[in-house]
Amino acid sequence: MAVVVTKFGGTSVGTTERIRAVAERLIARRQAGDSVVAVVSAMGHVTDELVDLARQLCSDPPEREMDMLLSTGEQVSIALLAMAIHAQGHQAISFTGPQVGIVTDAVHSKAKITAVRAERVKEALEQGKIVIVAGFQGTTPDGQITTLGRGGSDTTAVAIAAGVGADVCEIYTDVDGVYTADPRIVAGARKIDSISYEEMLEMAASGAGVLQMRAVEFARNHGVVIHCRSSFSDAPGTIVKEADETMEQAIISGVTHDTSEAKLTIRDVPDHPGVAATVFGRLAENNVNVDMIIQNVSEDGTTDISFTAPKDDLSRAKRVLAELVDELGAREWLVDESIAKVSLVGAGMKTHPGIAAGMFKTLADASVNIDLISTSPIRISCVISADQVATAVQALHRAFGLEDGLPVEVRLASGEEV
Ligand code: ADP
Ligand code: ASP
Ligand code: MG
Repeated sequence: MAVVVTKFGGTSVGTTERIRAVAERLIARRQAGDSVVAVVSAMGHVTDELVDLARQLCSDPPEREMDMLLSTGEQVSIALLAMAIHAQGHQAISFTGPQVGIVTDAVHSKAKITAVRAERVKEALEQGKIVIVAGFQGTTPDGQITTLGRGGSDTTAVAIAAGVGADVCEIYTDVDGVYTADPRIVAGARKIDSISYEEMLEMAASGAGVLQMRAVEFARNHGVVIHCRSSFSDAPGTIVKEADETMEQAIISGVTHDTSEAKLTIRDVPDHPGVAATVFGRLAENNVNVDMIIQNVSEDGTTDISFTAPKDDLSRAKRVLAELVDELGAREWLVDESIAKVSLVGAGMKTHPGIAAGMFKTLADASVNIDLISTSPIRISCVISADQVATAVQALHRAFGLEDGLPVEVRLASGEEV
């Protein structure tokens, strides 16, 4: 008998009909003899609607209260799913994150899981019940409700899978798996059959919202295999696991994009040792997640420092920069919210030179201007203007042969420029 941890996202539980379909799927698994846990998200766009309600009343809501509010979305869907299972004559019990011992740090709105005390889940499974757990939420050791960041139900599911020792964590969503690019933007994107934690981490970190980055990180650290698949079919999806020789050896695995960040700049800041440490130290103290950083060449003893950070962190980042401009004697600070980041991800980059040059040439040919560049051993990211994001992603997907799965060299050998 296997222990199966499943997770159903917002679209998959968006209506009562869909909740009923999820209930049927879970019952079928239970009847086949498996112990079944289901982690669920809030219905449809409920989380967005709750964020909207908060903003109507308060431009900068206290994060503790935001977590109180947002955690209610998941509580609705767990109770409804448990009822749908009862209605079909089977036993189920729903639990909130705090009830099943999802313990986190105290960073409201993007808390990190520090412990999973899964005894309650195990007990209910032993009683033969289907266990329904609210995703996206946890508790601090002293009882404050926290949330795990947008998309955080994926992380709850992986954490529960690690906690109960499940062989696989099945993440059901509204696409068939992880694609070579967001299928909403690239019609010819292909489903990837299997991908390493390393590449999936880079894809998630650079905008492939299909899996939350923390979930992939948690899975890698605890050896949980993820199967990301469709809640509307039985087709096999994408397996995320440690790299092995059975995996597709693609040079480039995918093209990702992210429009959730903004660019901030401090102009004419004095250029002497300790300034960057002050700026980024203060941002970190205020829980601003800085992504890319660029410092311009110094002129007349001053310089410009630009960085990108999530728009969700923008009100805190603006507050910090306003203080720093005065404190450091800089000229001014600026913010640009109309940027996007496009990235190429692939383990083959380590051994294939010329990928960066190919990326820049592709963007140039598509008349896309590059603002900032950053790299990791298996990723190259460029910040561009948000209104060119679809053009850029489509051009890169085509140029790197991802549509038909051709490796880059084949394209090069056939005379096409990358
Ligand atoms: P859920 O509510 O099930 O958690 P999400 O909206 O968080 O679903 O994630 C699924 C969505 O992720 C898809 O509808 C798709 O548009 C988007 N997405 C972005 N990049 C990718 C990618 N590389 N592969 C698959 N889906 C992607
Ligand atoms: N409901 C939360 C969100 O919309 C968490 C999740 O769906 O994973 O981000
Ligand atoms: Mg999601």
